[in-house]
Amino acid sequence: VAKRLEKFKTTIFTQMSMLAIKHGAINLGQGFPNFDGPDFVKEAAIQSIKEGKNQYARGYGVPDLNSAVAARFKKDSGLDVDPEKEVTVTSGCTEAIAATMLGLINPGDEVILFAPFYDSYEATLSMAGAKVKCITLRPPDFSLPIDELKSAVSKNTRAILLNTPHNPTGKMFTREELNVIASLCIENDVLVFADEVYDKLAFEMEHISVASLPGMYERTVTMNSLGKTFSLTGWKIGWAIAPPHLTWGVRQAHSYLTFATSTPMQYASATALRAPDSYFEELKRDYSAKKAILVEGLKAAGFTVYPSSGTYFVVVDHTPFGLENDIAFCEYLIKEVGVVAIPTSVFYLNPEEGKNLVRFTFCKDEDTLKSAVKRMKEKL
Ligand code: GLN
Repeated sequence: VAKRLEKFKTTIFTQMSMLAIKHGAINLGQGFPNFDGPDFVKEAAIQSIKEGKNQYARGYGVPDLNSAVAARFKKDSGLDVDPEKEVTVTSGCTEAIAATMLGLINPGDEVILFAPFYDSYEATLSMAGAKVKCITLRPPDFSLPIDELKSAVSKNTRAILLNTPHNPTGKMFTREELNVIASLCIENDVLVFADEVYDKLAFEMEHISVASLPGMYERTVTMNSLGKTFSLTGWKIGWAIAPPHLTWGVRQAHSYLTFATSTPMQYASATALRAPDSYFEELKRDYSAKKAILVEGLKAAGFTVYPSSGTYFVVVDHTPFGLENDIAFCEYLIKEVGVVAIPTSVFYLNPEEGKNLVRFTFCKDEDTLKSAVKRMKEKL
């Protein structure tokens, strides 16, 4: 394996999902719904295939999807973006992240991450040859350590990677925190790469796109996808929104990574994004009920549960159960209790920082969540 990828193992999500199958454990690890996406979107995909929309799509997205993405972003953030010049459709947000790093980062450029961070950030930054600096968000509230950020950002910083709502903690950056980040970026001429794939799963507060803050659009790449919002994680449709001078870099990388993304799924995704408001309201209502089942259950089982404002994840402190670290705890949980969670130490540059924390997902049907809770209450 190439040196730039030597330190990365099989992703923790793959590892844990394989263990779930092997031990017949209930999988509250990898974040994929165990229920299906809406019929009107699936029908649109079938229709597109039947209508012969099956050859290569335009590289940066089928026009209908670029327009639907721009219209949705206008509704959500108030920003007017040009669907032709500022929207690039990718194979999931994961490709948007890779294309952004590879298209806009030079070897040796310094990029700031907030730990715990989603695993693909560090790996794609490594592929781009970036120098990673890390700021840790700490429990109980995972708030932004403003002074640490201020001393980390300088004229040498090329970009800050911002994920809100945040995987794995469920933290959402507040307007005050985003203002601090924005003023540091403007002062030091820093870009922001914003991963906002959980924006429709914001329960406790309003999601704010950092691109909508004064002076930020011109220095921000906003990334999102269809998977979480429409319970279709296997479709792998994502996008990056950025001003033309940044879109150019993203598109150059995208052109030579994947060239284009599945044509019929793009047409169906355009239909999805035009869903009425009631779809998004119902999604949130359903997820609030699921969240309540899991959070109450975890508390009753004896965990310290940290507040999660968004995403379909919650992070807990497992130390009341006396296992030595997050990995040992997750192994015990799979083998003795029959439930899978994600150890968080892999989401830090220094694994020690995550050793007390594990992540559970509630993107499962209510019966599955109830059975998992029952097992934990009985066997932990
Ligand atoms: N984003 C999903 C999670 O955090 C998993 C994606 C993956 O398996 N790579 O669980």
